[in-house]
Amino acid sequence: MLEFSADAEKADGMAADSSRDKAVVVVGAGPAGLMAAETIARSGRRVVVHDASASPARKFLLAGRGGLNLTHSEPLPTLLTRYGEAAERLRPAIEAFPPEALRRWAAELGEETFVGSSGRVFPKSFKATPLLRAWLRRLDGLGVVLKSRSRFAGFGAGGALRFVSPGGEETVEAGAAVFALGGASWPRLGSDGGWVEAFREAGVDVSPLKPANCGFRVAWSEIVRAKFAGAPLKTVALSHGEARVRGEAMVTETGLEGGAIYGLSARLREAVAAEGGTTLAIDFRPDVEEGALAQRLVRKPGESVSTVLRKAGLPPVAAALMREAGTLPADAEGLARRAKHCAIRLIGTAPIARAISTAGGVAWSAIDPDSMAIRRPGVFVAGEMIDWEAPTGGYLLQACFSTGAAAGRAAARFAAADLHETDRRD
Ligand SMILES: Cc1cc2nc3c(=O)[nH]c(=O)nc-3n(C[C@H](O)[C@H](O)[C@H](O)COP(=O)(O)OP(=O)(O)OC[C@H]3O[C@@H](n4cnc5c(N)ncnc54)[C@H](O)[C@@H]3O)c2cc1C
Repeated sequence: MLEFSADAEKADGMAADSSRDKAVVVVGAGPAGLMAAETIARSGRRVVVHDASASPARKFLLAGRGGLNLTHSEPLPTLLTRYGEAAERLRPAIEAFPPEALRRWAAELGEETFVGSSGRVFPKSFKATPLLRAWLRRLDGLGVVLKSRSRFAGFGAGGALRFVSPGGEETVEAGAAVFALGGASWPRLGSDGGWVEAFREAGVDVSPLKPANCGFRVAWSEIVRAKFAGAPLKTVALSHGEARVRGEAMVTETGLEGGAIYGLSARLREAVAAEGGTTLAIDFRPDVEEGALAQRLVRKPGESVSTVLRKAGLPPVAAALMREAGTLPADAEGLARRAKHCAIRLIGTAPIARAISTAGGVAWSAIDPDSMAIRRPGVFVAGEMIDWEAPTGGYLLQACFSTGAAAGRAAARFAAADLHETDRRD
């Protein structure tokens, strides 16, 4: 288990801190919170990080199992478009800590990065563990203290922060606080969306949390469920309306998931919510024109449909899904049309617990350009808990690191100004 070198005495001292120079508190030790902590510590302020989990950055470590796609190498104006409606609000943070800065930061921690063929950026090790280990060592060296198993339970009198830990409850008065509590996907890794009520009660508007980069439910026949759950759909193109995404997907027992589905998930989710379901079109041979495919689907005498489909590069899983869309046409043209436009009805969104990320969160209208809650001066937010979403491709972590750094800078400024103000009053 990765940990800071535990320094309980130092931590307790800070938690009970009643001096004017209060520590800045960071709540949530994911990539956004840890980046905020590093930024604040570098400004010379004391930092205490609280996290509900037993160890920090568990979802970041899970992302490492998929190779850790840290960011994307495309030009910044293109990269910003990936954040859709939130792009303009995220722009200052991402411009201040852009992909090159993130790559330099990783390299300084001993993890050189490289650009993959898709333009995605990965550490050469393809792992999160060495990067996190080096980062925690650096934070420890900067004097940052981590209090694990310390769950934020709400705001107390005068804006104090209430935490619950195995040792009991504590109330902390902070110089400023950065919240980076993540969304609600993979709740067993710590981010469970439990913070939403506390923020709403504190007058901070939070848009409902929804799954993003998520799978969808399909009422598969028993045959597909029993024989093809877990089967990959390699190099397919998925269409919904005018949107088309090439990539891979996977058949699950309850529907479809995987990169190409995630790429369409924002619009699929909205269509499912508005209409109770929606239809996705699968092109199983995106590199072959429909006419050329039809020629390859002309059957020899006595040849079965399954055989001709297989010979035309349509594996059994494709044939099964083509059958789900209705009785298979007998003629080659009809088969080619079905293989290029296989309509699959999506009847629901997969649970948020299995999604890669979360849409919704602290509303942009509730925070100022420094990401400080307008109704809660001194409370800053960062990372996935803010209301933005983006496709996979490194855009999620990039925005988490950038907003973490931005909230850290703003919180450090706030704490310094507050102290100055206290001095002036004294
Ligand atoms: C399988 C998977 C693979 C992924 N791969 C990639 C990838 O390759 N590239 C990419 O860009 N993104 C990827 N992501 C997404 C990325 O991991 C997240 O966007 C990112 O971790 C969010 O960072 P965060 O700091 O905002 O929140 P989180 O990482 O969710 O951290 C939030 C922290 O807050 C703590 N917390 C929550 N509630 C409380 C509370 N009440 N009190 C105290 N602490 C609390 C949690 O314990 C947690 O440590 C992946 C996600 C998944 C699930």
